[in-house]
Amino acid sequence: MIQLSQIRKSYHTEYTHLEVLKGIDLNIEAGEFVSIMGSSGSGKSTLLNILGILDDYDSGEYRLDNKLIQDLSQKQAAHYRNQFIGFVFQSFNLLPFKTAIENVALPLYYQKIERKKRQEIAMEYLTRVGLRDWADHLPNQMSGGQQQRVAIARALITQPKVILADEPTGALDTQTSYDVMKIFKEVNDQGITLIVVTHENDIANMSKRVIRLTDGLISGNETVQVGKTQSAQ
Ligand code: ADP
Ligand code: MG
Repeated sequence: MIQLSQIRKSYHTEYTHLEVLKGIDLNIEAGEFVSIMGSSGSGKSTLLNILGILDDYDSGEYRLDNKLIQDLSQKQAAHYRNQFIGFVFQSFNLLPFKTAIENVALPLYYQKIERKKRQEIAMEYLTRVGLRDWADHLPNQMSGGQQQRVAIARALITQPKVILADEPTGALDTQTSYDVMKIFKEVNDQGITLIVVTHENDIANMSKRVIRLTDGLISGNETVQVGKTQSAQ
């Protein structure tokens, strides 16, 4: 599903030149559940943004579903994003003045699906994340865990092949984090490829493979042993 070969990325400012990714080689198959770990500033978000076609890279090759993702126009990038990718962020990124169901339905608005149908499908996805009774609540009337579940429903509604989540449990307490990871596991069981950035070992151990980033390079790549979950509290 995802093939990275010698991906490099630097940030330039007037005074500095910062090499963040120094030649990343990585393959992720369809249906995998992978976590990416690394200390703060190690390039995790940079890598995820490249995978999500939110940012470009300087050299190397990125193939998504065998398509070369390189030098795309804004329009092509948006096309591939809409076709393949769902995003979940640490801070949920819900629209504050829209209800849960309106937030979930929003991507369908951009697909020009009519209102009644949008609401119907959005309710299905809200039900899947256990929030049927919360459809008419605003984000600030919901807990962090509930808001993240709304965000997951919104990411799922376009039926992406890959979900990219950047520290999705970073703002949640331990139990709520596990609940969110349980939903991700169900999503993965349905065949969707999942890539989760985290710096928590117990969260990473709920995925099936852990990739470690150190100083712009992959320093570790381990399959998670079955049963090795939720060890740390
Ligand atoms: P992580 O998500 O692992 O904490 P990031 O990928 O966000 O790391 O950032 C890696 C490094 O790149 C950091 O030193 C950060 O300050 C720098 N960086 C990230 N984005 C930009 C940017 N748009 N411009 C300049 N530097 C950036
Ligand atoms: Mg980050």
